[in-house]
Amino acid sequence: PLSRLPEIEEARQKLPILGEEQAVMECINENPTVIICGETGSGKTTQVPQFLYEAGYAHGGGIIGVTEPRRVAAISMSQRVATEMNLSTREVSYQIRFEGNATPDTRIKFMTDGVLLKEVQQDFLLLKYSVIIVDEAHERSVYTDILIGLLSRIVPLRAKKGKPLKLIIMSATLRIEDFTENSHLFRVKPPVVKVDSRQFPVTVHFNRRTPFDNYLAEAYKKACKIHQQLPEGGILIFVTSQQEVQTLCSKLKKAFPYIKGQVEAKPEKTESRRERRKKEEEEKKIMPKIDLNKYSVQPTDDEAEMEMGDDSDLDFDHNDIETEEEDEKDMEESAENDIQKTVQPLWVLPLYSLLSSEKQARVFRPSPEGCRLCVVATNVAETSLTIPNVRYVIDTGKAKTKYYDKVTGVSTFKITWASKASANQRAGRAGRVGPGHCYRLYSSAMFNDSFPQFSPPEITRRPVDDLVLQMKDMNIDRVENFPFPTTPDSEQIKLVHYTTASAAKITPLGRAMASFPVSPRYARMLAMGHQQGLLPYVIAAVAALSVDQLFIDTRASSDAATEASVAILKMAIFSMQIDKELIFILYHLYHQLSLLCAGVFAQESSDVQKKIQTICNVKRLWAGSGNSLLLGDLMVLLKAVGACEYEGLSPQFCDRYGIRFKAIKEVRKLRTQLTNAINMALPEANLCVDPKLTPPTDLQAKLLRQIALSGLADHIARFNPQVPTASDADSQKKKYAYECCEFEEAVYIHPTSALYKKNKEFVVYQNIHETSRPYMKGVVAVEEE
Ligand code: ADP
Ligand code: MG
Repeated sequence: PLSRLPEIEEARQKLPILGEEQAVMECINENPTVIICGETGSGKTTQVPQFLYEAGYAHGGGIIGVTEPRRVAAISMSQRVATEMNLSTREVSYQIRFEGNATPDTRIKFMTDGVLLKEVQQDFLLLKYSVIIVDEAHERSVYTDILIGLLSRIVPLRAKKGKPLKLIIMSATLRIEDFTENSHLFRVKPPVVKVDSRQFPVTVHFNRRTPFDNYLAEAYKKACKIHQQLPEGGILIFVTSQQEVQTLCSKLKKAFPYIKGQVEAKPEKTESRRERRKKEEEEKKIMPKIDLNKYSVQPTDDEAEMEMGDDSDLDFDHNDIETEEEDEKDMEESAENDIQKTVQPLWVLPLYSLLSSEKQARVFRPSPEGCRLCVVATNVAETSLTIPNVRYVIDTGKAKTKYYDKVTGVSTFKITWASKASANQRAGRAGRVGPGHCYRLYSSAMFNDSFPQFSPPEITRRPVDDLVLQMKDMNIDRVENFPFPTTPDSEQIKLVHYTTASAAKITPLGRAMASFPVSPRYARMLAMGHQQGLLPYVIAAVAALSVDQLFIDTRASSDAATEASVAILKMAIFSMQIDKELIFILYHLYHQLSLLCAGVFAQESSDVQKKIQTICNVKRLWAGSGNSLLLGDLMVLLKAVGACEYEGLSPQFCDRYGIRFKAIKEVRKLRTQLTNAINMALPEANLCVDPKLTPPTDLQAKLLRQIALSGLADHIARFNPQVPTASDADSQKKKYAYECCEFEEAVYIHPTSALYKKNKEFVVYQNIHETSRPYMKGVVAVEEE
């Protein structure tokens, strides 16, 4: 029996799902597969594992497994559930790609969906588990989709064996028909338990106009106004990337600085509790009034209301939801006398998935007394993490998605409109603690006409070669017939048959490749490296290639400075149009400009300049000449890894040479993991991770180049200044242009590459990133000197 702390028990009792415990458990006991859907924050992720534990599912010879599409969620949820159950992390643990704290005593294991997929490869029936919860199924991550397909077959097999496995699919209230109505997936339609949520009404305010391209500045303005004019309550802002989160956080911190001790020292503290409560109550009362005066109430927008009506079965009254067209001017006018009484400090916290878990945990803690909470987040905060006490949501309406060109394999990040479903999830975050407001920085027309209903599942948007190979290694020979919740493009599956040289059945090379935890092209390089006796180098190279951005993004920092000056320029133009705002804007302008001149930006950019210079120099040194130079970026990576290891992975060394410390640590882990995997597959190789990997000789560099070519053979480009450029602006760059198969316009070697401006006739590349123009990264020359 569990002994939960009283305050935990109290918090649990408030969660909607607690009232459904009996219904949920009865449904699970009676059915092999159950779908649980409920609004974000209703308690699915934290409570269902506990229900199962208390019903004995972790003590009948199997444990409880929970999969999450995001690492953040796996870590943070395992910690939360351990705390709630008053158990140690030995018993409630997590496992993600490179780390975990699971032990033989683990009873509940949170893991990423990719980790469980790997486990299926080892033990197809997942005998270690008595129940698998697939959480956040609505996110439709590829691994989640494949897991659901696999589990739909594993569940009946386990039943036949007399060792039943329960499958629980949990989702926000979105498009569950892909799971329930797909008879190829589940022949018997699984029952759906809906969890009612105590969602409070959220008033949605649309912008009258959709700002052109400057949604960050718009979000900043809106946050300032909310903070200065509206009653207490946390603010949650949705932007698209880590960089945007950081930019906006630093701007907001500068505008409303929090100085430790300052707030506590205010006389307000002496105010009696009762007085304060009374004041708060009064504030709450005026809130709707402020609302009506400040915003012109427009007739309800039908479409948007219908959208919010996602939760049509839930218990709140839809008439409570109003959508309004925000009248910018009204709000601007009332901003005029707010500069002096610049209010409380703002407790600004970033939230994105690569943030360390300690920093992530801060969003769950109460903000310092007298401060308003403001979380700037990527879409992590949409459904996987519920931030308490949010009353205002600012939605830029944007999402960053990775797009792949199926033919060329080019990947690009594009910022596009999110889906209607996402926008409504975001709005819903404002209604957890009380009635809330969502400010959409786009017009209702834009929402209606340009937002897709849902974002398409990932599996339809990315190459599937690695997946098909993994599936074949699980003896799923006919991938075309696999019960995917949404089937990927069949052309793509055929392409994999072709490139992996495995018709229907997997070949021995294919099987060896699948056992390496890397994508097929790298697996092929490893196999070749073995033949040439160069495995330690190939392992180090593949490890470095598999990690995103080993070197710091020097260009991004200078972009930030440019972005700031553009923002100031836009503000200046804006202030000329609206007199009343002039002082307000100038104040900010001045603030920004003084920062720029006095140093923050200027100093940062001169530091950055110096750093860029150092990095360029050392890269040039590392690239060397002869066969070394021909090996290009791969040589630079190898030398960077070697040098870092030689210096004992010192953060100072990394910092000096612009190497991301976190990335180099991942490289080490991946090197170790690959070395172990290969030692297991090929005991005669007898490899170890050499901390003093000496640079390859000229001959070795030549052989390594051939190995790289074998893995990247389909990513070949030819120097050709005649190739048509995508835009006129590119015409000066023309003399460095390359053409590559099936990519119509010119591509270029990235300026940070060792082979930049070397004009080698044929090169292969790791990938093409489309930023200002399509850039090849990870470039290796083909031709001889
Ligand atoms: P769902 O999975 O249905 O979206 P969750 O189980 O994630 O809901 O969340 C239930 C509640 O637990 C939320 O109110 C959330 O704020 C709270 N919660 C989750 N993690 C933590 C944490 N680390 N600290 C405090 N509260 C948390
Ligand atoms: Mg959840």
